[in-house]
Amino acid sequence: MMNGPLASFLTDANFKSVLYIVAFSLFIYGLSGLTGPKTAVRGNRIAAIGMSIAVVATLLVDPFHNPVLIIIGSLIGVGVGVPAARKVKMTAMPQMVALFNGVGGGAVALIAWAEFRTSGGFDVTPTYIVVFSLFSAIVGSVSFWGSNIAFGKLQELISGAPITLKALQLPVQALVGLVAIGSAVAIATGSTSEGLMVLLLISAGVFGVLLVLPIGGADMPVVISLLNAFTGLAAAAAGVSLDNQALIVAGMIVGASGTILTQQMAIAMNRTIVSVIAGGFGGGGGDAPAGAAGAGGGTVRSTSASDVAIQMAYARLVVIVPGYGMAVSQAQHAVKEMANLLESKGVEVKYAIHPVAGRMPGHMNVLLAEADVPYEQLKEMDDINGEFKRTDVSLVIGANDVTNPDARNKADSPIYGMPILNVDESQSTIVLKRSMSSGYAGIDNPLFVDPKTSMLFGDAKASVEAITEELKAL
Ligand code: NDP
Repeated sequence: MMNGPLASFLTDANFKSVLYIVAFSLFIYGLSGLTGPKTAVRGNRIAAIGMSIAVVATLLVDPFHNPVLIIIGSLIGVGVGVPAARKVKMTAMPQMVALFNGVGGGAVALIAWAEFRTSGGFDVTPTYIVVFSLFSAIVGSVSFWGSNIAFGKLQELISGAPITLKALQLPVQALVGLVAIGSAVAIATGSTSEGLMVLLLISAGVFGVLLVLPIGGADMPVVISLLNAFTGLAAAAAGVSLDNQALIVAGMIVGASGTILTQQMAIAMNRTIVSVIAGGFGGGGGDAPAGAAGAGGGTVRSTSASDVAIQMAYARLVVIVPGYGMAVSQAQHAVKEMANLLESKGVEVKYAIHPVAGRMPGHMNVLLAEADVPYEQLKEMDDINGEFKRTDVSLVIGANDVTNPDARNKADSPIYGMPILNVDESQSTIVLKRSMSSGYAGIDNPLFVDPKTSMLFGDAKASVEAITEELKAL
């Protein structure tokens, strides 16, 4: 509907290809910025510019095709997405990622359905296009419904503990999987029944629900990353069926990076992806009461801010071990101030970062970078574990599961085999948390009743500030 030389230039397919190439370059350049906290924000912005260019290029080809719908859709997306992303608390970021990822999968499944309708049941398209469309419908639907269950678990709308149909789990899962694949085969071989397409979407959705329900809370980060990779692959397949290079490239970038991240997280937790999907690892936050008797009935030694300050002021090496509780109480700035004071007293301070501490990959790095903690002081698990033996004081700030020695020592522990920070090897350990409650995996932590451990009960930020005041007075 556009006329004139400018219009024909703008809507030229070659012009679109050039814009796409610019967009892809920006995606890749932006992605490379995400490898470090200092360049991450810039990387994100660069990739967002790339995505805007890709969207404009896509719309240019037929700019007046359904403009009202496109504007309404864009406004709804911006209206919901921007405030949600701005308001979300750092601790709720994983469920937000799960939700956004699910929406992507759902969009891909809907595109496949729309294509099915406009092409008269994939009647006219070549078979390989139909196969890609059906793949995107199945995987997109699995990803949408699976991500929604992951959201529900992380938001504690449904139990974080594994939920299964017991003996019926595998047969039912296999059945709905077969229904989805059977419907796809029937459509690919000529059926134009829309009922079959809807059955495909529903059965794939039920498969997604059954896939994620049995997965315990502690494995949730791996699952979200896996579903993210699924969405990427589904989008790439949709790109093949729509002949849209932007979808193929962006989808493959998400698919490939999601797969690598999933693999790395599974390795960090000493799990295989198959065992993650088999489910049953960890069950969400626990509520063991505070008291003198701790994990396994041992004795809990409680301490005071002034004792902690004295102990740390005379230490040579203090290792700070942050966890989810530091994020909840937003203690990072207070922690940095305390560390500055310790350093001014000649104490060496390091931070031990577990790959799944907190509730999202890189959670602790982001918080500590926000508080301007020098990146060189952040030590990855493998680098710091050899140093705990010579550490005078390990200060555990709202961390629990990632320090649990049962993961190393107790073969029947649900987290047995997960690499942990070997805090219990240090000369002494101080744990800052509010009670004796368990962490995300819902299990006791014998570190808290170790004879070398003292507990400073209270909100992490308040406790760190109290220690800082005592340090100033020394
Ligand atoms: P945990 O969940 O094991 O423990 C956090 C501890 O913080 C709790 O025991 C809680 O004890 C304490 N806490 C909560 N609020 C406060 C507060 N205001 N002040 C002081 N303490 C507080 O956290 P970890 O970081 O050790 O381990 C992460 C866990 O989360 C792992 O099991 C991991 O698998 C899982 N996970 C990780 C994700 C990731 O990508 N990083 C995503 C999803 C799950 P109390 O109530 O007594 O204060």
